[in-house]
Amino acid sequence: METKTLIEFVRDTYQTHDFIPLHAPQFHGNEQAYVADTLDSTFVSSVGRYVDQFEQDIARFTNSGKAVATVNGTAALHAALYQAGVRQGDIVITQALTFVATCNTLFHMGAEPLFVDINRFSFSLCPQALAEYLAEHAFVSDDGQCVLRATNQVIRAILPMHTFGHPAQLDELLAVCQQWHLVLVEDAAESLGSYYKDQHTGTLGGFGALSFNGNKIITTGGGGMVLCRDQQAGEHLKHLTTTAKVAHPYEFYHDEAGFNYRMPNLNAALGCAQLEQLPNYLVKKRELAMQYLSFFESDVNFREHCFVQEPEYAQSNYWLNAIVCPDLQARDQLLAQTNQAGVMTRPVWQLMHTLPMYQHCLRGELTNSEWYAARLVNLPSSPVLMSI
Ligand SMILES: *Cc1c(COP(=O)(O)O)cnc(C)c1O
Repeated sequence: METKTLIEFVRDTYQTHDFIPLHAPQFHGNEQAYVADTLDSTFVSSVGRYVDQFEQDIARFTNSGKAVATVNGTAALHAALYQAGVRQGDIVITQALTFVATCNTLFHMGAEPLFVDINRFSFSLCPQALAEYLAEHAFVSDDGQCVLRATNQVIRAILPMHTFGHPAQLDELLAVCQQWHLVLVEDAAESLGSYYKDQHTGTLGGFGALSFNGNKIITTGGGGMVLCRDQQAGEHLKHLTTTAKVAHPYEFYHDEAGFNYRMPNLNAALGCAQLEQLPNYLVKKRELAMQYLSFFESDVNFREHCFVQEPEYAQSNYWLNAIVCPDLQARDQLLAQTNQAGVMTRPVWQLMHTLPMYQHCLRGELTNSEWYAARLVNLPSSPVLMSI
């Protein structure tokens, strides 16, 4: 079996004969203490000091104007896109290689995703493909809106996703946005702790959305956060995601149709403790990625496989390690043999335009997306915290 050396390598790394998951949460810090504190105080719900603290800690960590906690990453995306001005009938350009939440959010807003190819090295929305698509299919109207020629719909924003934690080419994407009057919203659900040049992902566009789902680099059980570059937009977003209630000692007055997207204090307590661990996780995940890299560079069974590395302009959090197989057959063999041996691996998500609800969406050429979809495999990526 050709994958035997890989299976041995992963088992050696995690020092276990048990099932090895793709990514497991770990609680070795103040998690118990902070969560117990919310129970003792009875402040487990939508009000409490951990929510404020978690928002402030994330804003400081990412250096964003304001951070707004939400109930999950999908809700963070929805709120971010809404604050960015996306409305019913609008088009938002995104990538076909992403997790389905990116598109579901648009669908439920009555907006439509339009798929453009990914770049070969960033695995995220390709600035060149984007510029070419717009040049061929769009124009900027007299009132300064980017309009799709074929349907006269407004293209409001672009929504790149930092795949597996590897940052997109943000300077180039921002330049296209400026030329075409588009807002940049970043799906940074996978990229907490990843930097584009020296800026944290999710802070270069107007808005970025983080996720703290159980499989992400840190978790709150379920949770998300909107990173807002502009503090005032952030203040409004906080208002909007907390039912848009105008502060008053007892009256209920709401000045717009808000969302109840609040993260409970119980979850925020977990988040505060997890965030304390993040710097250590980042070190350990980079170490793990470098170990995979040297394994794949030296093992004779994997001469034709290529380990996915961060783009040269970026520092990635290496959330999910990935390997590019030579072809579909090699991919399927790797998936079957590793999973059979209790080492979890996974193909990349099926491309969005192949799912029933998004197959009718407009799209450009998706050559790189299709090429990678047939070859990418994610590998076990939990940080190895205990060395035995
Ligand atoms: C995890 C994830 C989300 C959604 O986060 P939830 O917290 O699960 O709602 C959105 N986009 C991408 C790319 C993700 O990986």
